[in-house]
Amino acid sequence: MKATVTREHIQPRRLTRLVKGMPATDGAGVELTRAIGQPAFPMLDPFLLLDAFRSDRPEDYIAGFPSHPHRGFETVTYLLAGRMRHKDNAGHEGVIESGGIQWMTAGKGIVHSEMPEQENGLLEGFQLWVNLPAEHKMDAPGYQERPAKDIPLESRGGGVEVKVIAGVTSQGTTGPVVQPLTEPVYLDVRVPASQAFVEMLPISHNAFIYVIDGRVSMPDENGQMVTLVRDDLGILGEGGAIELNADEDDVRFLLIAGKPLDEPVARGGPFVMNTSEEVQQAFVDYRQGRF
Ligand code: MN
Repeated sequence: MKATVTREHIQPRRLTRLVKGMPATDGAGVELTRAIGQPAFPMLDPFLLLDAFRSDRPEDYIAGFPSHPHRGFETVTYLLAGRMRHKDNAGHEGVIESGGIQWMTAGKGIVHSEMPEQENGLLEGFQLWVNLPAEHKMDAPGYQERPAKDIPLESRGGGVEVKVIAGVTSQGTTGPVVQPLTEPVYLDVRVPASQAFVEMLPISHNAFIYVIDGRVSMPDENGQMVTLVRDDLGILGEGGAIELNADEDDVRFLLIAGKPLDEPVARGGPFVMNTSEEVQQAFVDYRQGRF
C-alpha cells in the first residue's frame, strides 16, 4: 500500500483549550487536583479523568483510597514520588514506587484499595482513567505493572528527555504498556530552558499535555503563543505533530494521547458504562457481591 502524505500529517497541533485543574477530595480524604473529569471539562474521549496529587503533608494523603470497585474502564497510576500499595479482590497486590506505572484494566469489575505506603514525605503522581469500548467493558480484569527501570528513557539533542510509558516515539522508542483498544501514548517529557520539543502523534488521537513543572509555550488556533504553567492542562487540536518550546525555565510535562471511542458514556461514581441501565446494573452486581 502506498503511503500518502497530506497536509494534515505535518500540520502541528494547536492549543484549543487551556484548562485549570480544580481542587478536589476523593477516596477517604485525599487532596488532589482534578484536571479531566471536573464540571468545566468532563472528558476528552477516551480519557474520563485525570487527577494530580502532590503533597508532603501526610494529612493530605494518608487516608488513601480504601476498598472500592470499578467497572468498564482502566485506571492508570503513575507515581513521580512516594510509594502506593494496591490490593484487590482477585488476589493481586503490589507496591508502585517512584517512577513506576500501574495500568489496571477493571473490565467487568474489580474491588481494590490504593493506600500510601509511607507515613511522611512527598507523595506525587497522577491517576488517569481510560475508557474501554462497549464490547470490552465486561472483559476480565488485568494489570500491566512496570517499575521505573522498565520504562525507557529517550535522550535527544538539547538535553530533551522522554520517558516512554506507552506508545512509540518518532525516534522508535517503544513504551512497555500496550493497549490496542485505545492505542495510548503516555510520555513524561523534560525540555531544558529555551529548547524545543517536536513529536509526531497519531492523527486520529485526542491529545493533551499536563504541566508538572516549569513553563511551556505553544500556539493557539489563531497562532498566538500561549504559556502554560504548573498544573495547566492543554488540549491539543487536530494535526499530526506537537511542537512546543520551553521558556526561560526547564519544563516537565505529560504528553498523553488516545484513540477516541465515539460511544455514549454513562458514568456513576466508580462505574463507566454506555447506558444508565448498565451503571445501575453495576451497582446491583457490586452490592450483591458479584465483582
Ligand atoms: Mn481505584
